[in-house]
Amino acid sequence: MSTPARDRVLAGADGMTADGAAATVPHAALRDIVAALDTELRTADVPDYPGAVNGLQVANRGTVRRIAVAVDASRAAITEAAISGANLLVVHHGLFWGGVQPLVGVTYEKYRALLGADIAVYSTHLPLDLHPTLGNNARLAQALGLTPDGGFARFKTVDVGLTGAAHEDTAALVTRVEAFAARYGGTVRTSLPAAGRTTRRWALCTGGGASSDTLREARERGVDTLIVGEGPHHTTVDAIEHDLCIVYAGHYATETLGVQALGAFLEARFGVPWTFLHLPTGS
Ligand SMILES: [Zn+2]
Repeated sequence: MSTPARDRVLAGADGMTADGAAATVPHAALRDIVAALDTELRTADVPDYPGAVNGLQVANRGTVRRIAVAVDASRAAITEAAISGANLLVVHHGLFWGGVQPLVGVTYEKYRALLGADIAVYSTHLPLDLHPTLGNNARLAQALGLTPDGGFARFKTVDVGLTGAAHEDTAALVTRVEAFAARYGGTVRTSLPAAGRTTRRWALCTGGGASSDTLREARERGVDTLIVGEGPHHTTVDAIEHDLCIVYAGHYATETLGVQALGAFLEARFGVPWTFLHLPTGS
């Protein structure tokens, strides 16, 4: 895949029909889109961290004619969503990770921009990470040519990530991860040199997937190669001591695929065009 996903997305999201004729302006009711997302993602049933606040976080006047999708509900994403003419911004990391905050300063500016441009915000964190076909983990495994045979990274009642068997040079796998990350402006590092190693059981957990809990689970399950977005320094120390190759592929890069899958899902369901807002964070 040599073409960046953003270009492919934008080329297919311009509201034109296959023969190039202008289409009638499609639109959908926000409540119908929210209901479809809540059902598909099992929003009410998937546990999450308190700051996730999964589901509709900000409403609009009720109609959606264009959708923007982004990894983060950042000020830049809101600005770009307004420029794109979106009435709905779908994100993986929503507006409330910082907990309760007064609506002043940058926070005020973000809400003023959303309300001023009539942009609703729908956020989906773990429900999107673990979705079996649209999820960040499923899509990344697919992009890397990995076939899962089970879940990984237990959180309360759900498995957020994936695991599977393989038999290949770890260096070859890392090269594929590097190519993927580069498409999204990211870089890759590993806890151990990949050269000379063989990956027999891999596990994958996008975003902040390296933790004391996931490393313990990796050891218990015989995982030799753990692909994550990022993790604290102690996970590298732990991995070296236990001969585990952690592949840190970038928090942002590893979580770009799920929101794009949701954009395509909503366009297929409602005919509303969508745009991926590529706003890498460097992490
Ligand atoms: Zn994340």
